[in-house]
Amino acid sequence: MTQATEIGSYHKLTDLHGVGPKLADKINALGISQVSDLLFHLPYRYEDRTRIHAIGACKPGQQILIEGHIEHSAIVRGRRSMLVVVLGDGTGRITLRFFHFRAYQHKQLSKGTRLRCFGEVRAGFQGLEMVHPSYTRLSDDSNLPVADRLTPVYPTADGLGQKNWMRMTDQALVLMRRGELELEELLPSDLLNSLKLPSLSAAVDYIHRPPPDADLDALASRDHATQKRLALEELLAHNLSMQKLRRQQRARKAPQMTTRPDVERDFLQGLTFSLTNAQQRVIQEIQIDLNRGRPMLRLVHGDVGSGKTVVAAMAALRAAANHYQTAITAPTELLAEQHLRVFSQWLEPLGITPIWLSGKVTGKKRQRALEEISAGAEVVIGTHALMQEGVEFNRLGLVIVDEQHRFGVDQRMNLLDKGGEGEQQAHQLIMTATPIPRTLAMTAYAGMDVSVIDELPPGRKPVTTVVMANDRRRDVIQRVARACTEGQQAYWVCTLIEESDSIEAQAAEEVAQDLRKDLNTLNVGLIHGRMKPAQKQQVMDEFKSGHIHLLVATTVIEVGVDVSNASLMIIENAERLGLAQLHQLRGRVGRGTQQASCVLLYNPPLGSLAKQRMEIMRRTADGFEIAEKDLELRGPGEVLGTRQTGMLQFRVADLARDAALLKRIPAAADILLEQQPAQVDKLIHRWVGDTARFAGV
Ligand code: ADP
Ligand code: MG
Repeated sequence: MTQATEIGSYHKLTDLHGVGPKLADKINALGISQVSDLLFHLPYRYEDRTRIHAIGACKPGQQILIEGHIEHSAIVRGRRSMLVVVLGDGTGRITLRFFHFRAYQHKQLSKGTRLRCFGEVRAGFQGLEMVHPSYTRLSDDSNLPVADRLTPVYPTADGLGQKNWMRMTDQALVLMRRGELELEELLPSDLLNSLKLPSLSAAVDYIHRPPPDADLDALASRDHATQKRLALEELLAHNLSMQKLRRQQRARKAPQMTTRPDVERDFLQGLTFSLTNAQQRVIQEIQIDLNRGRPMLRLVHGDVGSGKTVVAAMAALRAAANHYQTAITAPTELLAEQHLRVFSQWLEPLGITPIWLSGKVTGKKRQRALEEISAGAEVVIGTHALMQEGVEFNRLGLVIVDEQHRFGVDQRMNLLDKGGEGEQQAHQLIMTATPIPRTLAMTAYAGMDVSVIDELPPGRKPVTTVVMANDRRRDVIQRVARACTEGQQAYWVCTLIEESDSIEAQAAEEVAQDLRKDLNTLNVGLIHGRMKPAQKQQVMDEFKSGHIHLLVATTVIEVGVDVSNASLMIIENAERLGLAQLHQLRGRVGRGTQQASCVLLYNPPLGSLAKQRMEIMRRTADGFEIAEKDLELRGPGEVLGTRQTGMLQFRVADLARDAALLKRIPAAADILLEQQPAQVDKLIHRWVGDTARFAGV
């Protein structure tokens, strides 16, 4: 957890009344180490104790303040005793129930006592009731004022009650208003005015103690200008910290890789296609980076099928031509194997033989691979096994990570540590088809340069997608039969909720058996994660060569698999998959020139979210649009996959909710850097602290 720290106005928690070392320790554990930090610990909801409601007008579900006289009070004995109190105010009656109570409470809550209660109204067997309301006893003539602000409820931990938080934040707010707890305004007023956002102290004051007429709905959905103000500041701080890291990164040295036009020309001539404009542009961006003598940190962002592999190969070629090694990692064995095949095909004619290393390479073979790697093999391809201990490079100049969302930043760092030359750091190229919305990419990858391959190879037609209920399975099978008889090839993807490889494999086997019966003139293959690499390889080869017509597969084929003649995909239980995964899967077809289609088979009835997902899939093939929708439906944590959520943990901001603010961040960062550079470090310090390692270095 990050900590907010305020420069030059340090108040210890124990400076507050009622906070001793023990309590301070508990609060410290929440990442709050000084008084000003308390003000960035924000309430997650509010209670309205500013008005007394007539009991007769209460409705179930309301959380309200009521006041009346006790008309009846008794301990009802049952399996468990219960204190039952009836409170009336002339407009109506309500029952108060206490399942946990002490003897003195029965005495306190005796008939005739005047009582003020706060709690949630519920519909009980005998009319309205409140269970365990909080209460205050009043003498008949007392005139206890109601709260003049909404009552905040803070996220908390064991042994830290709301009363503690109130007491502490009350004091912190007083200090702030007196100017003793300087919360320096770090944002230019121009910026705040243009966005109609309040000052920091006004925002903090409001959020901790909103006035009675505050828009509770806006506050609850964190949509209030005061909350936006803090979110903006936090997002800005993160952006600036990543920019700073990037500058530091750029200050390091890296191998300078100059061009070898003859080698590059030979490579391009060996391809069976010519590069798209987008590919050429991105390759050029990478080559400029590689020639700088500073570490490249570039993300290549391109939809499935946009042709990222050849871009990566060109980068590896440049490294090899400069006698540096390239490590290429992919998240699955299948994808890594495919890279090995493609890279070998492209690079071997140029005299470069890629080395293979995965977790399944063991014994003598592994020993030999490790030796070749440490002896300087130019291109090494594998799974995360490349990132493990014992793998040492000789002159590692370039690290290429495919489908980055499957890897954590830490793993990538491990790879970087594996033997650059001297003080030099290897270049990094990260390729992802995770259609991260542009808004998110900006924040998630603010520390990286981003290249976008925004063009598909020519002749591709968008995949036509239809959504069908499972009871039309027979029709779908007929459709597969027809397509395959006409010379097309198809995937049949089996999906399960269970994460277990073996259960998934078994289900796929059963489906394959059934389909073999139904489609007995066709050659039906099967591939799943439990098969040995050689087996998988054989199946993929047979599919590629056209020998297998229909390939039944688990989601192992999700990333990267590339068979251009496959033009039909059936996805079973499509309702169970998220948008990102559906998009990835569907990207396996439509790689050739014929019109491809995808059938999403679902088990009715469809839930409303699933229905929306199917509809989005049917309507668009644009990865970015799908990503935006995914973000809307799911929230950013999930979009990036759990591994990366760590890099997106904010205290106030929420990338889905604050998408509109995000768009303003780059410009705001520029303004700040230009107008008030001295504030930048303070801002980073306040929000990000020292935990900036998550960024892309
Ligand atoms: P992805 O971006 O999903 O990794 P790939 O690199 O696997 O995409 O490319 C998808 C397919 O398109 C491959 O068969 C590849 O050979 C082919 N391809 C790549 N670039 C071009 C191009 N410029 N013209 C035609 N086909 C291309
Ligand atoms: Mg790929």
